[in-house]
Amino acid sequence: MTEAGRKDAPMPLLLSTRSAALPHVTVLGAGFAGLLAAQVLADRGVRVLLVDRDRLPHDAVQRKGVPQGAHLHGLLGRGTQAVELLVPGFAAEVCRRGGRRIDLGGDLLLASIFGEGVRFHAGIPLVGASRPLLETVLRERVLARPTVRHLTRHQALGLTGTVEQVTAVQVRDLDSNTYSEIATDMVVDATGRGSRLTTWLATIGCPPVPRVEVDARFRYATRRFRPPLAAPPWTVFYLLASPTLPRGGMIAPTENGDWIVTLYGAGSHCPKPSDDTFLAFAQSLPNPQFADVLSAAEPITAVVCSNSTINRRLYFEHASKLPANVIAIGDSACTLNPIYGQGITVAALSARALSKQLATDTLTRQGFAYRVHRRLGAVYRTPWLMATTADLRYQNCAELPRSSLQSLLADYLDGVLAAGTRDARAQDALIQVLHLTKPPRALLSPRLLTQSLLHRPPWPEFRTASTS
Ligand SMILES: Cc1cc2nc3c(=O)[nH]c(=O)nc-3n(C[C@H](O)[C@H](O)[C@H](O)COP(=O)(O)OP(=O)(O)OC[C@H]3O[C@@H](n4cnc5c(N)ncnc54)[C@H](O)[C@@H]3O)c2cc1C
Repeated sequence: MTEAGRKDAPMPLLLSTRSAALPHVTVLGAGFAGLLAAQVLADRGVRVLLVDRDRLPHDAVQRKGVPQGAHLHGLLGRGTQAVELLVPGFAAEVCRRGGRRIDLGGDLLLASIFGEGVRFHAGIPLVGASRPLLETVLRERVLARPTVRHLTRHQALGLTGTVEQVTAVQVRDLDSNTYSEIATDMVVDATGRGSRLTTWLATIGCPPVPRVEVDARFRYATRRFRPPLAAPPWTVFYLLASPTLPRGGMIAPTENGDWIVTLYGAGSHCPKPSDDTFLAFAQSLPNPQFADVLSAAEPITAVVCSNSTINRRLYFEHASKLPANVIAIGDSACTLNPIYGQGITVAALSARALSKQLATDTLTRQGFAYRVHRRLGAVYRTPWLMATTADLRYQNCAELPRSSLQSLLADYLDGVLAAGTRDARAQDALIQVLHLTKPPRALLSPRLLTQSLLHRPPWPEFRTASTS
């Protein structure tokens, strides 16, 4: 059947996930958000069908459905804790397969145009590994649950139902190119930043879902390296961009001992998709150590690029009408600029919010989806504030509206960043807020206020010439 012919022809029922006794949920997308949502649903005795367009690999290898998997994927301190709570033993298993435990104060060198942040022992561990390994460990655990089934090579195409209630998901079998429907009690959309959920909802008569977008137009360029024999005195190097020099970079270890190196820049400072200019771009960054270690390292892959750096928030909790049994989770509802490394953490915190709702509520009770979306809205608030506050400072966002909190916070964060180059307590507070282990108000101690507001150095001058 062709896509065009699909509308008129009756669709065969592929799989019924319904039962009179137990509610069944169809989770679309087996990335971090989908897997973690499946995990918490299974914890509560719900039967889950995970649907993904990809064939899910057994090994920790890059797959087509998540092109961002080739890029550096840092798990924040809060994310490491949240995933561990949902999937106990996760970090140990990642490390058993070669992942690294990283102390976010001692092993991380956080630098900016103000200089290098003071390093200290934070006692908050992260796990460092490639995205394919992190996802594989999680997937093995979730798919081993007896109440979780999965259906691969099936692309979700739309919803069947009304504004009140959805009854099925329309899918295409990518191998046989046939169309069918999956009857379901509830749909969780976790199809990521390319989600088509709002279009599907419009097709069944739902009004538009309110959305806000902040796009500073960053581009990522990533390449793997074999590290130099002389190990540098840090495990992870994160060099932040700034409005006066909107380019930065990150170096982190992967499970097989390689380095994954990401360069990024905004507007005319975007790195080029070229192997030849990678080192030159690194040399243009405001910390010579970055390029020095790279020039001693051996490149082992070609450069891959991504422009998927927009912040997009869909306010499902404010939608005037939504089916009672559709939930959006993860990037599908809140996409953040990956420079700040919050995506997996937000997926994990969202799954915990779903779990908390399930603890006191019933999936089939009227208004369940709305109550979940309200909880998810609270999860997104701080990550969204942090990412958009930082991005609104860049030229491409000059015309966008901003709240007075965002304007104040942007300036203040620069003061804290500068204070962190002199003072371990300032750096500790900053890193914990960036890693979501402390709320932004942790930056408002009298000591930090004095340091950041009274002793803030002027912006260092840097050449802002063309791209390398
Ligand atoms: C360049 C880049 C770098 C990033 N770096 C970081 C980082 O350092 N740290 C971090 O925490 N986050 C990072 N992220 C974000 C991170 O990838 C996501 O936030 C995280 O994976 C959670 O996303 P998700 O599960 O909602 O979607 P995804 O992980 O994108 O998963 C979506 C899943 O849905 C499937 N799918 C999509 N459409 C369909 C369909 N129609 N039918 C069936 N299946 C479908 C896909 O195959 C995929 O399996 C980065 C993102 C990008 C773009």
